Amino acid sequence: MRSSRSVTALLAQGYRNFLDLLYPRRCPLCHRILREHHELICPDCARDIRPISGPRCYKCGKPVLEEEEYCRDCQSHPGAFDQGRGIFLYDDRMKYSIMKYKYFGCREYSRFYGKAMYLYGRDLLALWQPQMIVPVPLYWRKQKIRGFNQAELMARELSRYTGIPVNTRLLKKNHATRSQKKLDAAGRKQNLREAFQVVGNPAGKSILLIDDVYTTGSTMDVLARALLGKGASHVFFLTLCIGRNR
Ligand SMILES: [Zn+2]
Ligand SMILES: [Zn+2]
Repeated sequence: MRSSRSVTALLAQGYRNFLDLLYPRRCPLCHRILREHHELICPDCARDIRPISGPRCYKCGKPVLEEEEYCRDCQSHPGAFDQGRGIFLYDDRMKYSIMKYKYFGCREYSRFYGKAMYLYGRDLLALWQPQMIVPVPLYWRKQKIRGFNQAELMARELSRYTGIPVNTRLLKKNHATRSQKKLDAAGRKQNLREAFQVVGNPAGKSILLIDDVYTTGSTMDVLARALLGKGASHVFFLTLCIGRNR
C-alpha cells in the first residue's frame, strides 16, 4: 500500500501535468513550449545563456572597460548602497523576456529568474550576508492592474533557495512615478524620493533590495539612502538585468 505522502505527491504531479496541458509553460528566453515540466528553460537556451563576466564596476556591477574601476554613473554620482550586481545584460532578448513576464501573463518566468539570481549571485550573498530580501515596491494600483509585483516574485524565488526571509512591509510606494524619461538625474531622484517611503523599521539590518532591471541606479540610490537614513546597517542590491555603461 502506498503511503499517503506518495499518494499526495502523485496527485500533485497529476495536477501539474494537467496544468501543463491547459497552460503549457514556456522557455523564458525563446518562449517555446517546455517539454519537461521540471525544466525552467529549454536545453538550447540553457546552453546559450551567459551571466555577465569580465570587468565590472566595483560599486554597481555594470560591465566596464578593463582599465575602469567604476562606471561613469558611479564616478559622478555614487549610489548610497554598499554594493550591487545584475546577473544578465539588459539586451534585446532579456528586454523581451521581461516584457512577456510583466505584461503578457508569463509569471512562471520568475522561477527561472529567481534561480539564476541564486546560482550566479550566491557567492556575493555569502559575502554580503543580508538578513532580509526586500523587493522594490510597486504603487498598489499598478500592482492591482498587473496582478503581481515582478520584483516580489523574484524575491520569493530567491528566498526559497537561500532561506533569507522576504519583507514586503518595509517599503511603500505612495504614488506612481511620473515618466522619468524627460527628467535629468536630479529630477529623477526628486521624483522617486517623493514616491517611496520607509514604513517599517530597518534599524541595524542588512538589506538586499531586489528588482528586475538596474539602469541609471536612481531607484536603488534613493531607496538605499532612505533605508540607511532610518538606521539600516547595509544596503545591497541584486537585479536580474543591468544596463551597459553609458
Ligand atoms: Zn529557450
Ligand atoms: Zn557603477
